[in-house]
Amino acid sequence: MQSTRPQLSERIRQSFDNFDTDKSETLDRNELREAMAEMGHRPDDAELETLFAEWDLDNNGTIEPDEFEHMVLDSLEIVQKCKCRVCAAKKAKLLEDEMKEAAAMEQLEISRTKSAHPATGGQKPKVANLNQRTPSAPTAPSKK
Ligand SMILES: [Zn+2]
Repeated sequence: MQSTRPQLSERIRQSFDNFDTDKSETLDRNELREAMAEMGHRPDDAELETLFAEWDLDNNGTIEPDEFEHMVLDSLEIVQKCKCRVCAAKKAKLLEDEMKEAAAMEQLEISRTKSAHPATGGQKPKVANLNQRTPSAPTAPSKK
């Protein structure tokens, strides 16, 4: 069963309106919690914070209709390919996260390299050279 994108958007918009109880055109934390609960999972405070951190892309403390739509589509694993402000902000955020991660990885790599190779060369003790002992020459019969 595949519903088309416009139908889906319409449904998401409807549920947004349902949960926007004060008709502010935004969902605050409580409204979002109810909306999520209706969709099958009531988030706890930590999850709610995570959702806001991820989707309140203009950081105004509320979820706008476009942010909400992207959030729902994302949870349905529908890839976003539009060029709206949400996607743009999301992309920028992702890039920033990636750069932070890359920097962190680099730091980790540096510290790992340092500890793996101590600066002062710990010279390996020389292994006693067992080959130095000259094998006793076979006693050649002396013909004199
Ligand atoms: Zn978008």
